Amino acid sequence: MKENSPLSSAAFKNLATSERRFVPSSRPLVGHLPTIAITPVADGRTGAFEDNVAKTWAMVEKVHNLISRHVTLPDGTAARVVVAPEIVYGARTAAIAQEYYVKQGVSANIWVSRSWSYSDELMGAAMGLGSTEWQQAAYGLNQTDRPGAVWLKAFTAAMDEKQRPIFCIYSPDLEDENQPLSPFVSERLLRFARAAAAVAEMRGKNYLGVGGVSMGIIGSDVRRNLMQQYLGMGTVSVDMSALRGRMDRGVYDHDELDRAFRFMKKNMNLDFGKGKRPMPGADLLRECLKMTLIVRDLMVGNAKLADSAVGRAQGFKPDVETAQGCNAIAAGTQGQRQWTDLYPNFDVTESILCSSFDWNGHRAPYIVATENDSKNAIGMLAAGLLTGLPQLFADIRTNWTPESIRKATGKDVRKLCPRGIIDKRNSGAGALDYAVNAYQIAGVSPKASAQELAAAIRSSPKVQERLIAMAIKHTTYMGANLTYFPGDGLSSHYTTPGGIPMTAYRYNAVGDLLTCSVVEGETVELPREVAAHISAVTDATWPESYWTPRDMTSFEYMSRIGPNHDANSFGLIGADLIAFNAMLRIPVDMHNVPASQIFRPTMWDRFGGDDFRACEKLGPLYV
Ligand code: MN
Repeated sequence: MKENSPLSSAAFKNLATSERRFVPSSRPLVGHLPTIAITPVADGRTGAFEDNVAKTWAMVEKVHNLISRHVTLPDGTAARVVVAPEIVYGARTAAIAQEYYVKQGVSANIWVSRSWSYSDELMGAAMGLGSTEWQQAAYGLNQTDRPGAVWLKAFTAAMDEKQRPIFCIYSPDLEDENQPLSPFVSERLLRFARAAAAVAEMRGKNYLGVGGVSMGIIGSDVRRNLMQQYLGMGTVSVDMSALRGRMDRGVYDHDELDRAFRFMKKNMNLDFGKGKRPMPGADLLRECLKMTLIVRDLMVGNAKLADSAVGRAQGFKPDVETAQGCNAIAAGTQGQRQWTDLYPNFDVTESILCSSFDWNGHRAPYIVATENDSKNAIGMLAAGLLTGLPQLFADIRTNWTPESIRKATGKDVRKLCPRGIIDKRNSGAGALDYAVNAYQIAGVSPKASAQELAAAIRSSPKVQERLIAMAIKHTTYMGANLTYFPGDGLSSHYTTPGGIPMTAYRYNAVGDLLTCSVVEGETVELPREVAAHISAVTDATWPESYWTPRDMTSFEYMSRIGPNHDANSFGLIGADLIAFNAMLRIPVDMHNVPASQIFRPTMWDRFGGDDFRACEKLGPLYV
């Protein structure tokens, strides 16, 4: 059949009479797999071209292998890498690459060269459909016989003039082509490819707001147009009455609810609280798990809800629309107070969904923000996609200097945390992975990257099993504080171990501008008496995480961070987040990342390194 042959009237009749159903997708969410093109370019002159062919392809092969082995989405799927059908050396070969990339649905492009080529005239390879949204990088070999830098500088200058941002990759030291890619070049290629894959993965997917604004918190005011213009994401809002409706009418998988309930009863430490409680413990747990299944189904859909046999057996009305879900890659639950004044809070829902496991075993974490703080959810989504690791939603609760700790407890912690700590306990929900030192469990050095930690966990069922067992062991679900939560709930209580590298981040809306703050630091394990005191005077049912920033005091962090919430990731991922934000033209308003690690498109240098001016000039990516 010819590619452009029109549909027959029989085909239309077929469409018009077929019944809709839940169409399964290859991954939980529907969307094109992030696809990164590699475009080799070379000098087109006869003789020069032939001299370069083999060595240019050898470079491409190295880049291809590096990215396809090490750039992975949180569910373990590798990013797609495609390579131009032939070396691009002129306008026509560029058009061949362009045609191919359009068919492949490319969203990022890495140009690779070891030689001179007619830089600006090869732009055709980046003029395909949607190419203004592509993330671009260029890697030029540092050597002397055909200096790659000459092409690289000519090309990035051409891109700057077009205001098409491009990341420039060039080794500080001369490279040996017979050796593997240098660590410097590999790190930059991976940083670019991971950030580009994250940008592509979130594009076209949705944020799901369950409920509205929680207790006047501006973060939970979902800014639909900012989501769309900066992140390329849609927004879906579902009133909490939809949740009530599904709970009351039994619209969830009852078999899975039973399985979840048995798992929690058998494995979890449960402390339903003392005195008169709104409902018996077992009922409370069951309600919390129902909410968990329903929020997940609202996010990613559930084929069972459309299945009439399942509906008949379990007593709910099957419905194709209900089964679809919102194709949501991130969500937030309002909870307080309209829901939590009456019903159990979302602590089980958020803590389990944000963890790397549930009753079905190890899986990619979901992104679910407390209090529908969508601006914190964005950060959790970015960091989750960049690392593949679960993220910790936090309240920025109290700044404790060593002096305040000494006054309150008599203990001297100046050696342990000379710059002070932030008490990051969220009001009851935290991913259970933060109850343990995941580096230790995976046998990975804390100096390793977050992505190396994720790979070690992903590749070993033994490590996953141990992580799940330890996280469960160190967590207790505790009956919620009824003053805050009259409808009850089960808070995930644990204490994050110390010495874990942890990056805090936060997105802020300032009018129609989005900014991001990124601060690296590490967790602190306080002496038992000190932690006990802080818990007793704050809330003992909530998850405790104490954190100290690097090269700044906790007070400076407290003073300069925007709102009442931040979120946190295992690992030092500041440089990854800075590259990611540059791709989306979101300026970083505060960070403590060493200058040598900062990697942004060359245009930023033309603006004197001023992130705000570069981002303002370019504007949000999807406007
Ligand atoms: Mn809060």
